[in-house]
Amino acid sequence: MQMTTSRIMYVEDDPAASLLVQRVLAVEGYEVIEVDDGLAAIEVAREKHPDLILMDINMPGLDGYAITTKLKNLPETRDIPIVALTANVIEGDRDRALAAGCDGYLPKPIDVDTFPDEVAAFLRGKHEEVAEKVLVARLEEHARRLVDHLQTTVTELRNANAELRRVDKIKSDFIVLASHELRTPLTMIYGYTHLLKSEVGQLDLPADVVMMVEKVGVAAERLSRVVDDIVNVSLIDADQLELELTPISVEELASSVVDDFKQAIYERKQRLEVGPMHDLPKIHADQKYLRRAIANVLSNAIKYTPDGGSIQIKCIETGDALDLIVQDSGIGINPDERDRIFEKFYVLESTEFHSTSKSQFRGGGMGLGLSVVRGVVEAHGGKVWVESEGYDEVRCPGSTFHLVLPIESTRPDLKRHTET
Ligand code: ADP
Repeated sequence: MQMTTSRIMYVEDDPAASLLVQRVLAVEGYEVIEVDDGLAAIEVAREKHPDLILMDINMPGLDGYAITTKLKNLPETRDIPIVALTANVIEGDRDRALAAGCDGYLPKPIDVDTFPDEVAAFLRGKHEEVAEKVLVARLEEHARRLVDHLQTTVTELRNANAELRRVDKIKSDFIVLASHELRTPLTMIYGYTHLLKSEVGQLDLPADVVMMVEKVGVAAERLSRVVDDIVNVSLIDADQLELELTPISVEELASSVVDDFKQAIYERKQRLEVGPMHDLPKIHADQKYLRRAIANVLSNAIKYTPDGGSIQIKCIETGDALDLIVQDSGIGINPDERDRIFEKFYVLESTEFHSTSKSQFRGGGMGLGLSVVRGVVEAHGGKVWVESEGYDEVRCPGSTFHLVLPIESTRPDLKRHTET
């Protein structure tokens, strides 16, 4: 028995076919790395750098010829000998394999008696040659096959992409339609509960009726926030957010948003510090949308900060923009999630924490809040990002959101809007 620990990577998509080769190699004492997919084979070869690669040629996706050519063109893998293994041998297979970059060629099923010696020879540096004339012809054939494969793949991808876009549009249209349908009755419920709430005080109604009216009011408010966010996200997606720019004092707007959350902050025993914001220039912005953006960030700061934590909101002038900063002492966000949280429907928290409350600790919503924030800020020509050391629910490193808004928007379409 050969006492060697040479490492052999065996690329084969058919588990049944691989069994015999594996057994023979194992008996010979080789360390065998099995890979059943072409693309994965490239990664594994780069990472593990085997002493020899046995390559099945007929595989779905990238075939053995294409993978060999790729491996022979990578600096980290070009010196690894590659031996092609092919079943149902047809004429020219050996030359094709050598033209693609293989160092040798063995037919399948393997000959158990000669296979170990063949493998050992390739490990010692055996390299099969092909006549120059044959090589040129096979190389041309190889290049043609690669281009054909590329063309088929691009066509398939294009079709798949068109189908995905079609399905995505159906989904978006449905969301828009459904939310518009919801909005109309909701406005009625919302309006009439408001009216009822103002009436009940004068009507001397039983306490449980008053409580019911209160609850309907809170539920309607929550529902209209969700529907608003859905409509806003669909408008942002379609680039149809219509901004009405007016001169706005960020200090006044932020203070008014903070007022809306005073009760929630009190219930969560949090400390809220509103930093100095006076002497700032007014910015040209849409009051309604900017209010929603600030509210969404502040609501998150409350939700993802434990009871007793602190939140700070401040604003500084940076050249021709204002940087509105919302900092919390909450659970923080991992570096690789910092961009994704601004995508729509992206939620990090487990759905077990999902909550309809706008302030409950870790009570995640539908994952629309931050995509509305980004859409609104970008529609103003601004930028939004988050800084955080990482996620840690015990240490609570906190998060800092920046909403940078130009004082005068440089977007020509928005300027026109202000002038009209
Ligand atoms: P949701 O409605 O789930 O809160 P958002 O779009 O507002 O959706 O936020 C997306 C995700 O980003 C949240 O699920 C949460 O995990 C994370 N996140 C947002 N703000 C904070 C924050 N201040 N601290 C920690 N994580 C946050």
